[in-house]
Amino acid sequence: MEDYEVVMGLEIHAELSTKSKIFCSCPTEFGSEPNTHCCPVCLAMPGTLPVLNEKVVEYAVKAGLAMNCEISEYCKNDRKNYFYPDLPKSYQISQYDKPLCKNGYVEIETKSGKKKIRILRIHIEEDAGKLNHDEYGRGSFVDLNRAGVPLIEIVSEPDLRGPEEADIYFKKIKSILEYIEVSDCKMQEGSLRADVNVSIRKKGETKFGTRTEMKNMNSFRAIQNAVEYEVKRQIEVVENGGKIEQETLRWDELQGKTFPMRDKEDAQDYRYFPEPDLGMIHITKEYVDNVKKNLPELPESRKERYIKEYKLPEYDANILTSSKYFSNLFEGAVSKCGNAKAVSNWIMSDISGILNEKELEPEKIPFTADDLGELITLIDKGTISSSIAKKVLPEMFDGEEKKPSKIIEKNGWIQISDEGAIREVVNKILEANPQSIADYKAGKDRALGFLVGQAMKETKGKANPGMLNKMFLEALNK
Ligand code: ADP
Ligand code: ZN
Ligand code: MG
Repeated sequence: MEDYEVVMGLEIHAELSTKSKIFCSCPTEFGSEPNTHCCPVCLAMPGTLPVLNEKVVEYAVKAGLAMNCEISEYCKNDRKNYFYPDLPKSYQISQYDKPLCKNGYVEIETKSGKKKIRILRIHIEEDAGKLNHDEYGRGSFVDLNRAGVPLIEIVSEPDLRGPEEADIYFKKIKSILEYIEVSDCKMQEGSLRADVNVSIRKKGETKFGTRTEMKNMNSFRAIQNAVEYEVKRQIEVVENGGKIEQETLRWDELQGKTFPMRDKEDAQDYRYFPEPDLGMIHITKEYVDNVKKNLPELPESRKERYIKEYKLPEYDANILTSSKYFSNLFEGAVSKCGNAKAVSNWIMSDISGILNEKELEPEKIPFTADDLGELITLIDKGTISSSIAKKVLPEMFDGEEKKPSKIIEKNGWIQISDEGAIREVVNKILEANPQSIADYKAGKDRALGFLVGQAMKETKGKANPGMLNKMFLEALNK
């Protein structure tokens, strides 16, 4: 295993979040009754003609610019011919030798530093429909709502070295697409999926090995598992004197294995040719400049700004900008409470902790940036202690009520900062723990922590910890 290097390239498909389809005016909305978002064009009725949706070009140019690509002045559409029941025309309108964007790159943060992953091309194409396989074995039902939904395909060069880099790269692409708002990137709905190409070679070898391709992977975890399996399989083949066949594989999540998708006899020949029903696409420099001008701030620039403006460590800035949802939550909460480092800490530790535990993506955070800002203001003002705040946060995730002030009120969690009340608790705890007093006087500083802890327990975490500390110290040092 250690003798080999893993080489990978990804072909990432992202559904664009335009209102209408790429060549007709049907809606692109997900989850409707089957075959209700269809018209003669996307049903491939004879005599119909496609009309290119200009928004698709704009979104693809946005993606190209955000990924440092050259935008082609002229590009065209091509027919990719194949037969499958979810493809009513028996060809997909895609782009072959003249894609809209080419020669780009994105920068990723790896264990051993920054690395540029080159992007060979980004082209536009239409999605196919969907086959729903009947669980009673009565056959398959075709749903053409998705037929004609616009896609971009982002093809990387084989610059990725192993599944970890592929994971970082894929997440980076997802994050960029979210920032520029061209795709909702919902993997569970199929809006974002990747064909994963894998090969192995002996370390030090300069030529690439033969690749295999796993189609339509739509979860980060599945990719990790599939690549791990596939690498082991390829090494075994090579070690036993065999040769890797270039083939398309299907990953079976349940069995944890890859299987060949089709045999070599019907090796695909798509017979690409120019789509005669659509003209060349001419993209002027002014058009590109205009899209560029309106591009929102990208993660790299936000990161720099967080380090400069908010004096955050690079580590924090990296995590916060890794997702648009984190980043927006951060900025919104800071503008509410003014305490950048506290917001950063809450997002990176407690909020991330709950997301991990629930296996949720940042976009699923159910409260607003204002709510988080309010929580931190309440701590900073001394209305609640941070230990109470740690009880408020889970309520903000799970409860109906999202406003921290309301949650605190409902649960009677307001911090006790009344001097008389605190003194009462301090006296009570001191009376009950003469040994701790003796320990403290004997130089065991830890006894103070114990006493504060007891007082916190007594008040169910509601006593102001600063005041407790101060009063215990005064009493002990008397
Ligand atoms: P195809 O359409 O036949 O899959 P493409 O050129 O569109 O071909 O995509 C090939 C993908 O495979 C690219 O992402 C590329 O980076 C990757 N790739 C090419 N050669 C190798 C290799 N030897 N090992 C791993 N990945 C590879
Ligand atoms: Zn239609
Ligand atoms: Mg491919």
